[in-house]
Amino acid sequence: MSEVIIRDKAEYHARTTDDMQRHLTLPPWSLRQKIALTCRILAAEGHESALAGQITARGDRPGTYWMLSFGLGFDEARASNLLLVDDDLQLLEGDGMVNPSNRFHLWIYRRRPNVNAIVHTHPPYCSALSVVGQPLVAAHMDTAMFYDDCAYLPEWPGPPIGDEEGRIIHEALGDKRAILLAHHGQLVATGTIEEAAVLAVFIERAAHMQVLAQSIGAIKAIDPAIAREAHDYRLKPRAVAATFHYFARRALKHERDVLE
Ligand SMILES: [Zn+2]
Repeated sequence: MSEVIIRDKAEYHARTTDDMQRHLTLPPWSLRQKIALTCRILAAEGHESALAGQITARGDRPGTYWMLSFGLGFDEARASNLLLVDDDLQLLEGDGMVNPSNRFHLWIYRRRPNVNAIVHTHPPYCSALSVVGQPLVAAHMDTAMFYDDCAYLPEWPGPPIGDEEGRIIHEALGDKRAILLAHHGQLVATGTIEEAAVLAVFIERAAHMQVLAQSIGAIKAIDPAIAREAHDYRLKPRAVAATFHYFARRALKHERDVLE
């Protein structure tokens, strides 16, 4: 019988990262195509709340941002019907109305140079937690990316079309990737549009899990060291890209026009 080789777990993490680098690649979609795909993915995941919510990303030129035209639902997004705006929400490219609620995104982009994409939505389970005043609890492998990485804003500053709401929300977010906004919804702010899409899907699944779990018992906390390991594992960039690719393939089965 051959001898069992026992290695340090760090070796397996390194090998997994290398394998992901070699095997997990995305099609050459443009940024606009990935924003439109993100809109369709979130529509399919139950994030639609009529016209509420916004998905934005930094444009190539500094101080420019892509977003969906106000009046369109997430399920109507296409690469060709996005708008490019400047850092005062003035229209630069595209045809449509700029969403005035995107002003608080600008506050986050200004203060967080590492943030290149933001998804803010009002999905049902995040909204349920937000109206009873419960922060998100990350206590499961699938939701470990939010461990110590999801802030909570306990007071609602009102519809976010002014500068004051932007200041309050970006200060509450701090340097975290996600925030639950009381009486409002969720927001994720990340380095890539793929990560924003994946975290937005999973923050709603985490909230759903929390509501389900609390109907049968108290949530048990997970070990902080293990939680941090799982957090970093779930956020390996190629794993995030592969998850985005999977969600995008599902969206594209019936909706090829999203890429146009
Ligand atoms: Zn909102």
